Order: sequence, then C-alpha cells, then structure tokens
Amino acid sequence: MILKIDPTELKERACAAFIGMAIGDALGATVEFMTTTEIANKYGVFKEITGGGWLRLKPGHVTDDTEMALCIARAVLKNQGWSRESIASEFAKWLKSKPVDCGDTCRKGIRSYMLHGTLEVPYNNWDGGNGAAMRMLPAALFSFPDSELLKKYALEQARLTHNQVLSDASCIFIGRLIHLILQGVSKQRLRSEVDAFVKRFPGFNFNPYRGLATGYIVDTMQTVFHWFFKGKGFEECLVGTVNQGGDADTTGAICGMLAGAYYGMDAIPKRWIKKMSQSLIHEIELYAEHLIMASPFLREV
Ligand code: MN
Ligand code: MN
Repeated sequence: MILKIDPTELKERACAAFIGMAIGDALGATVEFMTTTEIANKYGVFKEITGGGWLRLKPGHVTDDTEMALCIARAVLKNQGWSRESIASEFAKWLKSKPVDCGDTCRKGIRSYMLHGTLEVPYNNWDGGNGAAMRMLPAALFSFPDSELLKKYALEQARLTHNQVLSDASCIFIGRLIHLILQGVSKQRLRSEVDAFVKRFPGFNFNPYRGLATGYIVDTMQTVFHWFFKGKGFEECLVGTVNQGGDADTTGAICGMLAGAYYGMDAIPKRWIKKMSQSLIHEIELYAEHLIMASPFLREV
C-alpha cells in the first residue's frame, strides 16, 4: 500500500485525536449519568469544561477513559513495542493508585490479571460495555496503517477486560475509522464505512437516532455516530454528544478522538485546551507523537 501522507500532518492529527479524546472525557464527566432534560434544565446547552459531576472532578481533569488509554501508551513506550503483559501491568498499577473512577468490568478484568495473570477474560455476552472501546486510540495509532495489526492490538487490549462480540467489533471499527481519518478521507467516505458496519451489525443502526447514550456499547456507538456526522466542527460534535448525557465522558472521549483527528488541532477550542491540566496535555503530545512515529507507516521514514 502506498500512502501519500505528510508526516508532520500525520503527527498533528494523532495529537489532535489524543487531546480530543481527553477533552471529550473532561467535558462529558460533568454531565455523566444525567438525562438530556436534567442537563437542559441546569445548563441550557452544556459547553464548558467546569469539572464537578458525580465524581466531583477538578476542572480539566480526566477519568478512566483517558487514564486507561494513557496506560496503554505508556506500556508501549516502556516496552518499546506492543505487549499485553506490559499493558496489563500498567492497568494494575493504575488500579492500585486508586483512580477517581473505574468501571466494574474493567476492575474485574484487572483484578483477574493481578490474581491469576489472566491476559484474556472468558467470553461473556453480558460484558457489552464500552470500557474496551473507549481506550482504543493508542492501538489505532501504533498499528497505522496496517489493518491486521490493528485487529490484533484492538482485541488484545480489549480482552484484558472485555470479551464480547459487539465490544470486539466496535474496538476494531473505531480503529479502522481512525486509520481512515489519518489518511485524510472525507466524512462522506466515513459515512459509507459506518453504513457498511451497520449492515454487518444491524443493532448499531442510528437512523433514526434513539437518543440513548448509556454505557452499553451499542448505545454508545449510536450516539458517537449520530453526533460525529451531524456536527460541523469539533465543538459541535462534542457539545451534541455530551448533552446527550448518560455515559457522557465516554461518548465524549470516543467522539473526541474521531473529531480531533478529523478536524485537527486548530479546530479544538482554545478555551477548552486552556482548562485542561497542562502537564496532561504535554504527556499526551509526547505519547501521541511516539505512537505514530513508531507505527509501521513512519518506522521506516
Ligand atoms: Mn470515565
Ligand atoms: Mn463513562
């Protein structure tokens, strides 16, 4: 495959995806578990990073979604390559640090690694949560543009905690969308990819949009698809997504990685970046750049 992509632009898109994810997480956390009506009554349209929410976050702080993605990035950096043991060990270290939040399925999977060294949890049809999909970005960046490698990394990171057909499919598909966006494709092209995905897995159909934004992977993906295609810029995509409430930090994180990569750094509102912890932004830039520079695409350049 011959891809003509300017490495500088690629690095910028990778950074924007990672920062977009963290911003979606930080923005959405304030309204996580609220209904659309509760959000509308309290804020009108919610669109500032203020912290608070049920986790009582400081403004600009992130939750498990970003933190688990950072664990994966850190594992790749430390190990100088992909290793599920290394990722599992970063997850374990993170869980021991008493994070502000950790989903039940993630906690169970990490504990199973800590107790028994489990690197793949058994199949469970009820583990259709979005906890594996929310942390897909590092696997997508580090495998770019190799779709086989993407599949391997997606499933290996996912199954440390989640082993379910729709979670698996979503992880791989989020990675595929990121790969396509990094290649600079149009939204129209992405839409036909999503339509093909919905054809294979009809449960993900989001037209008409049902307005459900729970932590169930199907609801999460429908919300992300709906607002990613409806929004006309990074801010519109993110504001639409998080005002849907429910698992707003996670829908925000996933929509943020797609919209960040698609619209680029310049489209991310400065007022949001200013609200973020600057040490976190620096760490993210370092990791995003490292992951994409060590990807099959840039390794040889
Ligand atoms: Mn979270
Ligand atoms: Mn969440």
